[in-house]
Amino acid sequence: MQVPMLQKVRPSRYANFGKSHAISGLDALVLGVEIRKSRIAMLTPRRSQPMPVKYWTRAGLMLTDWCNAACACCYANCNPAGRRWLAVDRAADIWADLIDASPHGCQIHLTGGEVFGRFEHLLAVCAEGQRRGLQGLQAVETNAFWATSVEVIRSRLTALDDLGIGRLTISTDPYHQQYVSIDQPRLLAEIGKEVLGHQRVRIRWEDWLNEGYSTDHMSQDALHQVFIDYAARGRDRFTGRAVDGLDAKTSLKPASAFDGDHCGQRLLRGKHVHISPTGEVWPTTCVGITVGNALDQPISQIWAALNEPALQGPIVGPLIASGPCSLLALSEQRGYSPRAQGYASKCQLCYDVRRHLHQLPELARFLAPASVYTEGQGRASIASA
Ligand code: SF4
Ligand code: SF4
Repeated sequence: MQVPMLQKVRPSRYANFGKSHAISGLDALVLGVEIRKSRIAMLTPRRSQPMPVKYWTRAGLMLTDWCNAACACCYANCNPAGRRWLAVDRAADIWADLIDASPHGCQIHLTGGEVFGRFEHLLAVCAEGQRRGLQGLQAVETNAFWATSVEVIRSRLTALDDLGIGRLTISTDPYHQQYVSIDQPRLLAEIGKEVLGHQRVRIRWEDWLNEGYSTDHMSQDALHQVFIDYAARGRDRFTGRAVDGLDAKTSLKPASAFDGDHCGQRLLRGKHVHISPTGEVWPTTCVGITVGNALDQPISQIWAALNEPALQGPIVGPLIASGPCSLLALSEQRGYSPRAQGYASKCQLCYDVRRHLHQLPELARFLAPASVYTEGQGRASIASA
């Protein structure tokens, strides 16, 4: 197994290095020793060898937590109060770090929140990547709220095409259509296919785009019915804002049903990672489970620390070993009551327990940022553009 060369720490970019997140209390030198031990462990097969971490070859770079919408399905709790925007240079730094950290390179998709909320900012990030010669701009995601005319769509997609975006991903389902008329993703898909070609437009989800409708004028009761019927199809993870209110037509189980259902495969063997607008690094789509901060230390070191059980921290370590039930006892000691009706999935249990634990000061940095767990926490941040 190849192990990437560790990056030299660049003090100007990583001012808090050695004081942050999972390596709190360790300085760069100590971490270097631990990482070398970890590399030796990975190169020396033995029965007790920890599961090696897959290289991160796909990354969602969240440029903002602002969104025009506040979808009932949103994993990251984005909403119009979100005010964090990842600065252009920082976004390009993280993009470069992601590529450096994997011998296979890294495909980047730019996401939010809603990145078209500041189109000039989105263009500037793409342009900075192009200026630095960064490869792998795989996709840009949007809910199409801005796609109100053919002219605007053509002009924006042509500009993004010139800057090398691979694909346009359009989100559409009954939750999004509470905030965006179904006509807009339909128009964007049609013009997007003309400008970029059919293969470079991805719809999530195509069946809803074809058969769906706007849900913004429905009564609360009717809307709720549409949502729970749709959620029963099994597409939603019931984390983030989706943790409450969508599972009424889904088979629910007590927490004990998930006992021993560990997350090692997902957290260590997933090739996908997400980065928040304030730099938090989340494995795969486990939004809010923070393994480090890309504004404080190189991605390669966050990745390498995940290989070392002693550095995995009080949330990720137990999840890898035993899954979300491992966090249940601690949360119950701190006042959490398991849901009487049960849980649709282990991820719903996990998020519900984490939502409780993130309030503990000693765990907050491992379950960050707080906005992932609470509504209406939008505030200016150090990473503002
Ligand atoms: S799911 Fe997407 S469109 Fe909806 S609130 Fe979240 S970021 Fe915005
Ligand atoms: S249970 Fe938690 S850690 Fe495991 S896959 Fe689901 S969200 Fe991720």
